[in-house]
Amino acid sequence: MSTLARALIDLGAIAHNTTLLARAAGSAGLMAVVKANGFGHGAPQVARTAVANGAAWLGVTSLREALELREAGITAPILMWLYTPLDDLDAALLNDVDVSVNSAEALESLAAAAERTSRVAAVHLKADTGLSRAGATAAEWPHLVTVAAKLQTAGLIRVRGVWSHLAHAEDPGDPGLHRQLDVFATARAQAAEAGIEPALIHLANSAALLQIPQTHFDLVRPGVALYGVEPVPGRSFGLRPAMTLEARVILTKRVGPGTGVSYGPDHIVDRETTLALVPIGFADGVPRRVSGQARVSVHGTRCPIVGRVAMDQMVVDVGNLPVSAGDRVVLFGSGQDGEPTVADWAQWAGTNAHEILTGIGTRVERVHVGEDVRITSWRTAT
Ligand SMILES: *Cc1c(COP(=O)(O)O)cnc(C)c1O
Repeated sequence: MSTLARALIDLGAIAHNTTLLARAAGSAGLMAVVKANGFGHGAPQVARTAVANGAAWLGVTSLREALELREAGITAPILMWLYTPLDDLDAALLNDVDVSVNSAEALESLAAAAERTSRVAAVHLKADTGLSRAGATAAEWPHLVTVAAKLQTAGLIRVRGVWSHLAHAEDPGDPGLHRQLDVFATARAQAAEAGIEPALIHLANSAALLQIPQTHFDLVRPGVALYGVEPVPGRSFGLRPAMTLEARVILTKRVGPGTGVSYGPDHIVDRETTLALVPIGFADGVPRRVSGQARVSVHGTRCPIVGRVAMDQMVVDVGNLPVSAGDRVVLFGSGQDGEPTVADWAQWAGTNAHEILTGIGTRVERVHVGEDVRITSWRTAT
């Protein structure tokens, strides 16, 4: 099979990261966050690997993502956390998908879905503890838990979780973090007063899981760390990046000083050199703004992307390296062979690794490899 660019997903790295995170979670369970197609790594493959290596739960954003996992035959518990009040949630109940709840109105529509489907809706009540996104505010919370207790007594819903999300877990001394923990404690106490004693209290994302044990409670929800990105700037916990993004050269040319490269041109060659055309561009998730900063690995040497990144292609200045059509170009990988990592790309693009990983386009083929398979050559791999 021929493909212009592809992402190799090392499921061995996912397994390693899951094991490491499960250990760091101590007695708390692990929810592998596989939203956005497993941060671009392939949700079913990541989910299966995570579950086989210690994840008890899977977390996704939408109903569609949850159903995709069920269709792939995955039976582990799933929590989904974003939908509109108008969504028909019968499919969630019929497929054993737990639903996050922000409001009393959402509880009523879940109760209606429970009546229609003859199922009990398993819900996780979400408290807004300071992020001002999803969740009920401190003012709304007492009403939410009162309605939840009533519907639970009526046998229509079961409150399985009470949860929230942190605004900033990178700095354990952050005062905002401690304010959030206080608001969360109050929310839990009010839920208990209303007669709600959920099995699962959960709050921590990757950074909180790895460095703030008092956020662990019953379940932790790592996302980016599962994929091998270190979540705390300046600290390394031994995670292994799972994705290698690569393409192969389709054309090279020898050019002299004064040659303009790509649109504009923004880049003028200042010496005799070899330019390599690489068929991956911003439609595939290479940020347009990295031109002039980003480097890619060619034969183990870091070479600059020159000129503007186009929709489908970009140009790499490989100097005097003996590069020819068909040669492999690594945009990012584990870093073990000197290639850039996704963290380098995030820095070049002025964003986070989450945005780079989830921005990899659908045209890029995902190839999953197991723990023991080490791909050295493009041709032997597929
Ligand atoms: C995305 C997400 C996570 C995972 O966050 P990371 O910082 O990637 O670990 C956890 N919880 C919720 C609610 C999320 O939306």
